[in-house]
Amino acid sequence: MNHKKEVLYVVIPCYNEEEVIEETTRRLNDKMKSLIKQKIISRSSKVMYVNDGSKDNTWNIIKSISHDNNLFTGISLSRNRGHQNALLGGLMIAKKYADIVITMDADLQDDINAMDEMLEKYYAGNDIVYGVRSSRQKDSFFKRYTAESFYKLMKILGVDVIYNHADYRLASKRALQELENFKEVNLFLRGIFPLLGFKYDVVYYERNERFAGKSKYPLKKMLNFAWDGITSFSVKPLRIICTIGFSVLFASIIIMVYSLVRKILGHTVTGWTFLSISIWFIGGLQMISIGIIGEYIGKIYTETKHRPRFIISENLENTQELSHEDKKEI
Ligand code: UDP
Ligand code: MG
Repeated sequence: MNHKKEVLYVVIPCYNEEEVIEETTRRLNDKMKSLIKQKIISRSSKVMYVNDGSKDNTWNIIKSISHDNNLFTGISLSRNRGHQNALLGGLMIAKKYADIVITMDADLQDDINAMDEMLEKYYAGNDIVYGVRSSRQKDSFFKRYTAESFYKLMKILGVDVIYNHADYRLASKRALQELENFKEVNLFLRGIFPLLGFKYDVVYYERNERFAGKSKYPLKKMLNFAWDGITSFSVKPLRIICTIGFSVLFASIIIMVYSLVRKILGHTVTGWTFLSISIWFIGGLQMISIGIIGEYIGKIYTETKHRPRFIISENLENTQELSHEDKKEI
């Protein structure tokens, strides 16, 4: 390969991971050394642990690892802020030093050997490379079923997510610089990366079991996360109210005809026609009204996110300027 060697940072959020962090370090140490030896990444590349307010010995272990081995470094959040925020924190610090950042979990459930292919795809001109699980055989049935339904639901709601991709991904420095402009507080990174645009590719890998320790994502956290993902990216649930409202209003016309026919045929008690028509008509009208308010709330919601309206990937003007400067230097 004749590309210039780039600095890679591997960002790993850790929450109470004292049982896994040493083994993870051993495996990643070999991996990083081999990548450096093959001249795929620069010698200044590092693994950056992000301690997400762990209550156990995690941070002390990270400190001693980075003291002994300069391939490893760490940052610590002041308190537990959750996986996504820990990731963002790590990404924002790492991008200062790195040309490429790969994020992965501390338990190495994501195959670290996929890094080679990710880097290859980066050097082939992709700004983002998504790690995609080729199968979930090793996940429990429940986890697999809920996770896969979640991706499908996201698609239905019009959110652009990569199927079966979690947070194992490579991103270039410029992608991360653009990510910084997404100021939203409810973070769902795997929904934001596709919004960045840029050229991307995917790498498939087998997901393993956690080699030690317990999942830090109990069901409640998982559901919260999924709900966050949906409500941070889609105003469709609000629109659904409007649609139901119109359907009910339409149904009220049918009910009206039906009630009047029954009345004319004399099959009704006094007042029934008026009541049944009113219930359906007013019900529909109310739902539509709520739906309309919802539409405005949806607009306010998307406005308050202050997401960038465009991201430039190439500017020919700049390249010309650069070549002028290059000439001056010569
Ligand atoms: N994690 C974190 N903060 C949290 C919860 C989890 O930084 O509040 C980290 C955790 O240490 C791990 C990653 O997020 O590196 C994924 O967690 P886990 O492996 O427990 O999730 P699962 O694979 O079971 O979905
Ligand atoms: Mg895990």
